Amino acid sequence: MRDLTNLLQALHFAAIKHSEQRRKDVEASPYINHPIEVAETIARIGQVTDLVVLQSAILHDTIEDTMTTGEEIERLFGLEVRRVVEEVTDDKSLPKAERKRLQIEHAPHLSLRAQLVKLADKISNIRAVTEAPPADWSLDRRLEYLDWTENVVAGLRGCNANLEALYDQLLQQGRARLVR
Ligand code: NDP
Ligand code: ZN
Repeated sequence: MRDLTNLLQALHFAAIKHSEQRRKDVEASPYINHPIEVAETIARIGQVTDLVVLQSAILHDTIEDTMTTGEEIERLFGLEVRRVVEEVTDDKSLPKAERKRLQIEHAPHLSLRAQLVKLADKISNIRAVTEAPPADWSLDRRLEYLDWTENVVAGLRGCNANLEALYDQLLQQGRARLVR
């Protein structure tokens, strides 16, 4: 019961933090759908029950995309969750291309917990790029995004066979659907 309460607390916190944000798809879906999908995928497909991982999945974009601080997350959810969320947070002071390069470089050195969150994040995003992409993205840009995630995921191999298999399947389906 304690774990469930803590998980729901993270969900409530993330929902409030992301409440003004929308995803980039044409329908501008509520942002919170994405962290919920990431956590659900880790639990159901990855069969992961570690509360720190599931809370971190729900909170994974709060520091990067809202005014949330690491201190705030530590105070409410503890140091372990803070560390995982910080591991998957890009340094937004860097140019986009550099951030993308660093994700590839850092992936193999992340903790196992952060690797699980990172992999499920990429699963959610390649699904979105295939089925509900940002309105103004060309086919080439969508394919380039799929290619880049493959380079990040190469550094996450070995963290969870079920999640890797789902990623591989969605990548293949995405490429089959997005033919140049
Ligand atoms: P963005 O980083 O701008 O967008 C992708 C990110 O947006 C995802 O990683 C995801 O991040 C979030 N997101 C929100 N909604 C969606 C959605 N519906 N579908 C997919 N992702 C969504 O784009 P890129 O990663 O492509 O990086 C931009 C780079 O592309 C820059 O370097 C830029 O210069 C370049 N560029 C390329 C063009 C081209 O045609 N090839 C054209 C213009 C720019 P999260 O999970 O964190 O929310
Ligand atoms: Zn994300």
